[in-house]
Amino acid sequence: MKNIVILGASGSIGLQTLDVISRHPDKFRCVGLSVKSRIEAVAHVLRLHSGLLICVEKAEDALRLSSEFPQHQFVWGEDGLIQLACHVEADTVVNALVGFIGCKPTLAAIEAKKNIALANKETLVSAGKIVMETVRRNNVSLMPIDSEHSAIAQCLSAHDKNIRRLILTASGGSFRDKTRSELDSVSLADALNHPNWSMGAKITIDSATMMNKGLEVIEAHWLFQMPYDQIEVIMHRQSIVHSMVEFEDRAIIAQLGTPDMRIPIQYALSYPQRLPIELESLDLVKAHHLTFESVDFKRFPLLRCAYLAGKREDNSAAALNGANEAAVAAFLANEIRFIDIDTFVSEAFDSMIYHELNTLEDAIAADKMGRDWIKNKISGGNV
Ligand code: NDP
Ligand code: MG
Repeated sequence: MKNIVILGASGSIGLQTLDVISRHPDKFRCVGLSVKSRIEAVAHVLRLHSGLLICVEKAEDALRLSSEFPQHQFVWGEDGLIQLACHVEADTVVNALVGFIGCKPTLAAIEAKKNIALANKETLVSAGKIVMETVRRNNVSLMPIDSEHSAIAQCLSAHDKNIRRLILTASGGSFRDKTRSELDSVSLADALNHPNWSMGAKITIDSATMMNKGLEVIEAHWLFQMPYDQIEVIMHRQSIVHSMVEFEDRAIIAQLGTPDMRIPIQYALSYPQRLPIELESLDLVKAHHLTFESVDFKRFPLLRCAYLAGKREDNSAAALNGANEAAVAAFLANEIRFIDIDTFVSEAFDSMIYHELNTLEDAIAADKMGRDWIKNKISGGNV
């Protein structure tokens, strides 16, 4: 029996993690979870179980919920997230938070010797060096949930480690067939309409700008210790080949499956075992054809920025990620247009001044620099 804590349980990955856990009650038990405010999304779990440690964002919500659900214990804020990440009963912490907010709890969980199942890619992008050092020092396992990285981990698990390149597949997101000039007039609703996956708002927007793939390139670099010139991105519209590994003998191993995040979530929790899952088998005849195309870096400038930031190995990836988080939040709040996201973030990336990144504080400062640049740009201040 594995005891599991879920950070970000009310989100897309969090709810699917709860679903996986509920289907294997003999293997997994949820001992704690967090939401920011959407407690109603997990109310069914709160009613069914007792003795959970639950974190919410605000103290007043924690107090109110303590009287509504006296069978559970409530904590709040960033300190609460850290307390939850270090839950004494937890074996594995699933980090399904969105954004750099996930960084501190991840580090705290690793220091508390918890195994990590990581969906929260922004943590590795901003502080990959520190996270991976902390993982090694504490000898815990870090399993990716992101489908591409899960695919690569699965391709590698049974094979020699003489890798020639990692090939990350990209669906291209909501606007893959639009030119840059056609992006002038797209709406928030259009941007949130992903062709293959149903996900949280931030990652759906990141998919449409391809920043998501850029973040994943950096994530792959840290997870698999692979140089950037051995990580490639190709467009694969069907999202059936989740990623591939080419080995030194030119053999390529790919992992295929229906686009359903419960597969990589379950693998991250059950590894090295594979458990059954109640899903239709992938029908390759129905899928009919699988296509692969090169990615246009001019059309998707944030993918180029992410490669450049990753290669610098300084605080630029953290700054780029912070700038992107601020720009996507502004777009979701209807403060800027879709096309402004990559225009502003590329401009921020080219203008900021970078330093070495050695500590968590360096990552926090770089994240703030990126956010501040975008906020200033939007408010019309000097940047
Ligand atoms: P969602 O937006 O659906 O969920 C985010 C979760 O984090 C929610 O539980 C939300 O709580 C909580 N949260 C958000 N902001 C804060 C905050 N400031 N403090 C505390 N909690 C917060 O995101 P996704 O599930 O889509 O994505 C989560 C992570 O997984 C991201 O890093 C994403 O890139 C990655 N990922 C997601 C995939 C997917 O299919 N969704 C696929 C691959 C990777 P509340 O609901 O109360 O607001
Ligand atoms: Mg992915």
